[in-house]
Amino acid sequence: MSERVCQEVQAQLPAYVDLSLPRLRRKLVALHLRRCAACQAEFSIQRELHVGLSTLAGAPSAPPEGLLESLLENSSSPRGAAPLRGAVSGAKPVLSVALLVAGAAAGAGAGYVSWLSAKNVRRRLR
Ligand SMILES: [Zn+2]
Repeated sequence: MSERVCQEVQAQLPAYVDLSLPRLRRKLVALHLRRCAACQAEFSIQRELHVGLSTLAGAPSAPPEGLLESLLENSSSPRGAAPLRGAVSGAKPVLSVALLVAGAAAGAGAGYVSWLSAKNVRRRLR
């Protein structure tokens, strides 16, 4: 298999996995994948990446862009940060994010976490 063809096929894999590739091209890529192990390997990577990204995009607790920065700023102030840090260290990763978000919202008054989700976090901590 020529390297040029592989390069072209692999460049189209992202569109191939998210089904945005035109039908004729899809067919060509599929044909090539059947015969080329290197492109097959690249295809499975792209597919996993795609699945992972859609999972992340669908997650309701995904923090908006810029939130991390405001969290870091917020946690550097001594007021209210100390008890939160203690709670976070022993918690599971997802819960930690929720706690950080809740803390940032309470501190900054951002209102990112609604009253309901703050209540849920508290319930899970008990
Ligand atoms: Zn190939």
